[in-house]
Amino acid sequence: MNYILKNGYIIDPAQDNIRHGDIAVNDGRIAAAPGPNAEEIDCRGKWVVPGLIDIHVHLREPGEEYKETIYSGTRAAAAGGFTAVACMPNTRPVNDNGTVTRFIMERAAECPVRVYPVGAISHHLDGERLAEMGEMKKEGAVAVSDDGKPVSNSQLMRRGMEYASSHGLTVISHSEDMVLARGGCMNEGALSTRMGLKGIPAAAEAVMVQREIALAQLTGTRLHLAHISTAQSIDLIRRAKEQGIAVTAETAPHYFTLTEEAVAGYNTNAKMNPPLRGEADRKAVRAALVDGTIDAIATDHAPHSQEEKDVEFARAANGITGLESAVGLSLALVHEGLLTPERLVELMAVNPARILGVEGGSLAVGNSADITVINPDESWIFQVEKTLSKGKNSPFDGWQMKGFAEMIFVGGRLTECHPAR
Ligand SMILES: [Zn+2]
Ligand SMILES: [Zn+2]
Repeated sequence: MNYILKNGYIIDPAQDNIRHGDIAVNDGRIAAAPGPNAEEIDCRGKWVVPGLIDIHVHLREPGEEYKETIYSGTRAAAAGGFTAVACMPNTRPVNDNGTVTRFIMERAAECPVRVYPVGAISHHLDGERLAEMGEMKKEGAVAVSDDGKPVSNSQLMRRGMEYASSHGLTVISHSEDMVLARGGCMNEGALSTRMGLKGIPAAAEAVMVQREIALAQLTGTRLHLAHISTAQSIDLIRRAKEQGIAVTAETAPHYFTLTEEAVAGYNTNAKMNPPLRGEADRKAVRAALVDGTIDAIATDHAPHSQEEKDVEFARAANGITGLESAVGLSLALVHEGLLTPERLVELMAVNPARILGVEGGSLAVGNSADITVINPDESWIFQVEKTLSKGKNSPFDGWQMKGFAEMIFVGGRLTECHPAR
């Protein structure tokens, strides 16, 4: 099927190509001119951007299909405007060998968006022995991480970085000092004291961010820091980048939108790890999105069942769903004048592709036609019950949003998006 996307606002920062005009899709690729029988799609008033890539999601399959499956999670991704996702390895069994990676890739072949598996750094995520990185890479893994927890043993992390590097895999760090964080279930501060809950200090993140940077410098490995939530970490990353260390970082929409105040009232749908922080941290995250210290917006989409959230706060599962609210929440930064549309596309498409070393992130002629069409202006109310994810654990239920993704193309295949309204 051939298409011509007419009169859109084309935002292709990777090629410095920002203009009103048309994009042709022929035989699954972006073309210089429309092919025979191209179907015309009117994109007036819409943004036509490289397909959005979420480099941090939990799809729960294999093993926890009651929370999400590869199919339901990728449908949620398509609904929210993403053309590709990278899925973390903390499934059951863990994606720590080629057989599990192959299983994910086989499932993904039937799904509406691309899936890039992230393999484990350590076998069983036990932090003791390295996983089979070569096998996983051969089957399609693009990065390694023990996300869900850190690799606490510094020596193992060093070896893991060296091993990953030799296979051309990006190392993604869940940066948390487990001893400092132990027993904590929200941000440590006046509010946690008032609520009678044990807090997790910002230092639990910063201590580990600093270690990872030191090890990346030692090993020369490409390091990516997941879900950055604090001003302190951001200062460390900024300094590392100034020194030329190959480090990138992501944050999630909840860290630039919410603060710890969202957990007041013991709302378990605002419980995640790292926890929501204070206003100064939120401001630092927003500034880091502008100045380039943070490279990407990723959702850390973490679906859970109601039963795992409908318990007392300290015992509730960590994490919120994110795939279907991310575009709306991120567009808010543009509507507020904080980010330009080009910068938003860098954060959600260009840099994610670069961080993982995968295709996409550009609308260059000849590229696979992975495209997201965004309606930036229409207001709507996010209704979690309308989301396609199996998980309904979102703190944004009932939120006013402005703008959503209308359609995606993945390898030239058109899928209508489905704003949860
Ligand atoms: Zn994590
Ligand atoms: Zn995660």
